[in-house]
Parts: sequence; structure tokens; C-alpha cells
Amino acid sequence: MALKVYINGQLYDKQDAKISVYDHGLLYGDGVFEGIRSYGGRVFRLEQHLERLWESARAIRLEIPLTRQAVSEAIYQTLRANQIEDGYIRLVVTRGAGTLGLDPNRTSDPQVIIITDHIALYPRELYERGLELVTVATLRNHPAALSPRIKSLNYLNNILAKLEGLQAGCSEALMLNFKGEVAECTGDNIFLVRGGALYTPPLDAGILAGITRGVVIELAAEAGISVHEVPLLRHDVYVAEECFLTGTAAEIIPVVKVDQRTIGSGSPGPVTRSLMERFHQLTRSG
Ligand code: PMP
Repeated sequence: MALKVYINGQLYDKQDAKISVYDHGLLYGDGVFEGIRSYGGRVFRLEQHLERLWESARAIRLEIPLTRQAVSEAIYQTLRANQIEDGYIRLVVTRGAGTLGLDPNRTSDPQVIIITDHIALYPRELYERGLELVTVATLRNHPAALSPRIKSLNYLNNILAKLEGLQAGCSEALMLNFKGEVAECTGDNIFLVRGGALYTPPLDAGILAGITRGVVIELAAEAGISVHEVPLLRHDVYVAEECFLTGTAAEIIPVVKVDQRTIGSGSPGPVTRSLMERFHQLTRSG
């Protein structure tokens, strides 16, 4: 059975799910999106993802042509049509088809697209052994130019960093902001552990307000672990006892090497592992 893809109220077979080549989402990356997960048939933190999507859309003056309730129902409808219980949801809203100029006022019909699929994770052994990162030369977008808080279809900043990371043999890359502070990775937020406390860059370091980042901050509070959202330098990463990344697709993944420096003992540490366990409980136990 072909996977069904939702576009503007209708479900299409995957090979028939198409939009205009004049869509400004394609021509200019003019649009917004969310990456979401479902566990056991329930969409995880859906309200927060919708809130962030609506904020991204507001920032680029894109009016989403559906209510949040309607988008939420469409997501469940698409998951059911594909019989997906544990999966990944890509929710996209494009500016719509227009003329060959930039002017968003000359577009019509924003496209609301929902793709649901099975998730391709990092290999399991990386969760057990930990990832290696490299800091790349491509800086995270300057927030005064294009706020990293907007989850837009224009991901070239991250893709350039990803290419550099891959070139260095690393599947994730650490990006700095224009001040030279640690920002985030190409598709994940970063946390450090030191003296039993968590450290992560604040939102005004110019990062995406990751939903998983927020969940980890909540889980840490429940576990009595203090969390400091403070500017961090590469030096802080090098001398951390533990390091991990958070993201919808990756969940929580340990980092054991950064720029050829071994982090802590060189294997996933106890704080990371206990947060991974708590995250697993939260998402897999109903
Ligand atoms: N930073 C960037 C640049 C991302 O693309 C993502 C993934 N959406 C994240 C962080 C993690 O965010 P979330 O936990 O909401 O998936």
C-alpha cells in the first residue's frame, strides 16, 4: 500500500503528492515546517509544535489557512490512513504558488502538507557509544538577519554546516553564533553536564527553541538536576563531564568526542543515561 500524503485537505498516494513548481516554498524556501513524532499512536507535544509553527508563520507573515484544531485532526487522519503508530510527521506550510519575483503578496494558496513516515534513526550503537562532533566554520545565522527561532524551509545555513561536518567524518556538526559562542548543531540542541548540573545555550544565543530541549529541561527539574541556560564557549564543551544532543528525531543522544577532545570518560555518562531513561519512560509508557 502506497503511503498517503496530506495536501490541503486531501490524501494522495505518495507518488501523486505534488505541488506547483511556482510555489515560493520551492523557489525561495519561503515557508515553515515542523518535525514531530508519534509514539504509540499519540502525537508527542503536538500543542507545542503547533504553537512554534504558528509563531514561525507569524514571523514571516504567512497566514496558515487552517485552525490548529484542523491541523491537529489532519495529522491524526494522515497517521491513521498510513497505520503509523510510532513514526515521524513532517508538517509543512508553503507560501503557495506565485510569480517569479520574491513578492509574497503575489502568491496564493499556501500549501499545508503532512507527510507521515517511519523514522530513520541514528544507528542504535551510536546511542550506546556516543557521537563525535566537529565545530564547523559556518556560523549559525545572525539572529538580526534571519532568526534561528523561525523554523523555515530555508535550511541552507544548517546544510552548509552539515556538509562541513560530513567532510570531517562527523554525522553532526557544532555551530557557533556570531559572537563565537556555542549555538546548536545542524538539527539538534546541545547540553553539557558539569558538577552534576546541566548547561545549555540560552535562546538568545540564536538557536531554535527545541521542543525536546524543553522536555529535557522539565525532566531535569523532576530529577532535581539544576539547569543553567547560559552562554557557553567551546572550552566549556571540551572540559564538560558529559555532553548530549536533543531533537525530535534524535531524541537524546550522547556525545563523546568534540574536535578530537574526548568528553569526560569517553563513554555516555550517568546524567545523560538517566535522562535518556526518563525520556524513554515519558514517550513509551503511555
Ligand atoms: N535545532 C535545529 C536547527 C533543528 O532543526 C532542530 C530540529 N527541529 C532542533 C534544534 C531540535 O528541535 P526539536 O527538539 O523541536 O526537534
